[in-house]
Amino acid sequence: MTVAVVTGAGRGIGRGIALRLARDGHAVAVNDVDKASAEAVAHEIAEAGGRSLAVPADVTDRDAVFAMVDRVAAELGSVDIMVANAGIAQVKRLLELTPADLQRMFEVNVFGVVYCMQAAAERMIAQGTGGKLINAASIAAHSGFDYLGHYSATKFAVRALTQAAAKELAQHRITVNAYCPGIVGTEMWNQIDEGLGGYLGTGKGEALAKYSQLIALGRVQTPEDVAGFVSYLAGPDSDYMTGQSVMIDGGIVMS
Ligand code: NAD
Repeated sequence: MTVAVVTGAGRGIGRGIALRLARDGHAVAVNDVDKASAEAVAHEIAEAGGRSLAVPADVTDRDAVFAMVDRVAAELGSVDIMVANAGIAQVKRLLELTPADLQRMFEVNVFGVVYCMQAAAERMIAQGTGGKLINAASIAAHSGFDYLGHYSATKFAVRALTQAAAKELAQHRITVNAYCPGIVGTEMWNQIDEGLGGYLGTGKGEALAKYSQLIALGRVQTPEDVAGFVSYLAGPDSDYMTGQSVMIDGGIVMS
């Protein structure tokens, strides 16, 4: 049985990915900085007949990420797939960003992704079995969004790291790709909606409705829409794909 780690899987997109990978037949280690939600999702998987393990940890803590990967390998047998999904957003005008804002955003969205790739790749190389590194990018990895400048910068960084890692790790039969969602109806977008409201003067739900008009397919994305693509990236059909950061956004950003 292949083993996947999904970070930030206590809710939202990560939860959707964890449930889907479990349904696909992978054993799933459910990570989140919020212990209770990681345990709840691991429990949900087990209840549905899947194999799971809750591995709460903060992805900004490099030692904790390496310890998490060690624990997953010890308890589930290996680490074959790492989905570095955990991320944060913050709506703020560029001229108002503080050093602490920048530091926090890069710590979670960039440093956290690097630590996950390092720990998982090290394990995969030792196993000699190859593997799949899958990172959370965004449409904001391809086009910088106003009021989300530092968030967009972290997602551009994830795209660069995905390309560099793909080149460095190909010799070990490790592929590295990223998924780029658009506007997904999660708690993160509730926060973005509220933050944009402060700048645009919009009420609850109005910024989300305004931005959703950009979606060609005409509806807000669900975590399952993202999980279907991550399922492909985690499985053998994507074995010849590496270094790509692919839009799965209902047709907002087309390149
Ligand atoms: P969310 O805020 O709903 O959930 C994120 C989860 O990550 C939470 O459970 C949170 O506790 C966890 N987390 C946060 N910091 C962590 C840390 N340091 N260590 C471990 N876990 C941590 O967000 P979401 O909408 O599900 O987004 C998931 C990923 O997808 C993020 O990387 C986000 O940037 C990306 N994304 C989201 C959207 C969207 O529209 N929601 C669009 C594009 C990309």
